[in-house]
Amino acid sequence: MPKRSDLEHKALQLIMNVGSDGVLQSKLWRKLDASSREGSRIAIKLENKGLILRERELSRGRWTYRLYAKRKPASINSIIDCPCLMCPNDSRCGPWSTISPNECEKLTEWLLNFS
Ligand code: SF4
Repeated sequence: MPKRSDLEHKALQLIMNVGSDGVLQSKLWRKLDASSREGSRIAIKLENKGLILRERELSRGRWTYRLYAKRKPASINSIIDCPCLMCPNDSRCGPWSTISPNECEKLTEWLLNFS
């Protein structure tokens, strides 16, 4: 039987991977091969840690919860136009160097226009 912390970690990964639609609690426990009691405990623990939201939902005549991740996984699209990715000074850039992210106008401009 997997440890509870392993199940918590797997549950959080699964909840994060389903995105904005969330996942029904009952469906998640089947995927994790956990009991509904164990699953409820883990969901409450993740909610208490501020990692997920639980919303009550009627599904097939039974009340359950839909689980949503509060933090979304970073998408590659969110950084695809970061100037550092194609910068010729990348290998020489760092906080210890004369070329530094702290002083970089390109990076500052990109961050200010980040949406
Ligand atoms: S912070 Fe500026 S200089 Fe450094 S790698 Fe990024 S774009 Fe290049």
